[in-house]
Amino acid sequence: CGIVGYIGHRDAYPIIIKGLHRLEYRGYDSAGVALLDKELKVYKKAGKVSDLENFVKGINTQATLGMGHTRWATHGAPSDRNSHPHSSGNRKLTIIHNGIIENYAVIKEALLAKGHVFKSDTDTEVLIHFVEDIQNETGLELREAVRIALTKVVGAYAIVIMSTDEPDQIIAARKGSPMVIGVGEGEYFVASDATPIVEYTKNVIYLNDNEIAYIRRDDLLIKNIDNTVQVPYIQRLDIQL
Ligand code: GLU
Repeated sequence: CGIVGYIGHRDAYPIIIKGLHRLEYRGYDSAGVALLDKELKVYKKAGKVSDLENFVKGINTQATLGMGHTRWATHGAPSDRNSHPHSSGNRKLTIIHNGIIENYAVIKEALLAKGHVFKSDTDTEVLIHFVEDIQNETGLELREAVRIALTKVVGAYAIVIMSTDEPDQIIAARKGSPMVIGVGEGEYFVASDATPIVEYTKNVIYLNDNEIAYIRRDDLLIKNIDNTVQVPYIQRLDIQL
């Protein structure tokens, strides 16, 4: 039920964990993080954010790109296995998701028939395998594959996706679930609400439904799901924590 993402020059892990704590009020049953340094590292656990912290303790994290999730299970019991993040079959793509992919069963069936193997019972894992499959079938770059996948998905979502092939980018999108982008200097934050962000920047963009944000350390591009470029409206927040 909560999303935090970071891309910039700072150590991502403490920012993400602190952000997940700030989102705890929304309620959740599991938590997880994905950190992309030289390689991708994913840690996830059923339980509290503090359980995740204990699990991750002692692990050296230098990543300046990463994302974290608190899950409110809708498809698949609360368990380590069903916790987010979820990865594609080739392990290159990783996703966190709040919401429900309503037509996941149809898509999953088609992917199973193509030989995809799933590690969880979630609707979310189906979405990231679907993006991988579109890339495999079409050779399209990730940005376009994500957009096409989202045009075929029914349901509500706030998602963040990262790829080991493109370690300088996070992709965020929303439809029916909130998503805020914090604009810093050479860094961006994404979150379900502004509470994980305000400590670092007061400049935020509220993503609208059907928008996809392609975020690099030095560049932000927002497009509508129909591929038209959107002009982002940066708002100045006036809240203290
Ligand atoms: N539908 C997804 C799941 O059950 C996401 C739930 C959520 O919003 O946290 O894993």
